[in-house]
Amino acid sequence: MLNKFLPTQYFKSIYEIKIENLKEQGIRGIIFDIDNTLVPYDEAEPNEKIINFFQQLRNAGFKITLVSNNTEDRVVKFNEKLKVFAIHKSKKPLTKSFKKALRLMDCKKEEAVIVGDQIFTDVYGGNQAGIKTILVVPVSDKDEWITKIKRGLEKKVIAHYERRYNRSNR
Ligand SMILES: [Mg+2]
Repeated sequence: MLNKFLPTQYFKSIYEIKIENLKEQGIRGIIFDIDNTLVPYDEAEPNEKIINFFQQLRNAGFKITLVSNNTEDRVVKFNEKLKVFAIHKSKKPLTKSFKKALRLMDCKKEEAVIVGDQIFTDVYGGNQAGIKTILVVPVSDKDEWITKIKRGLEKKVIAHYERRYNRSNR
């Protein structure tokens, strides 16, 4: 019962996914969720790091499909620079779009992996489709965490300058 919600692997971010490891598993096609897996909801375009990572994956021979429940506008805009296969309004966790992605990449379900941040859409849907899954921590959580660290540092810097300012004005 619980197995349906368990990913095959779990990483902090997509950048912890090792290309060699995927190859050893016989993976040829990678299905990526967009929102909170690659970027936060409010970022329309992939950053340099994502573009480079996708290029590395393609150089290594992987085919890639974006499978998102978000709108056509969102997905098409996001895919402009990546130019991979893309499916919008995918209705995950229904398996239809995952199966379509397999057809687009011309690979069997055993040769694919789904990378996403949500247990109830990406992982559950992947398990239903018989496709391996990699769960990643949502990027916006990390943003918040980083923001917290930054705020902490900002406070220290501000406090430091305030001390200097006060001293020089004595
Ligand atoms: Mg997501």
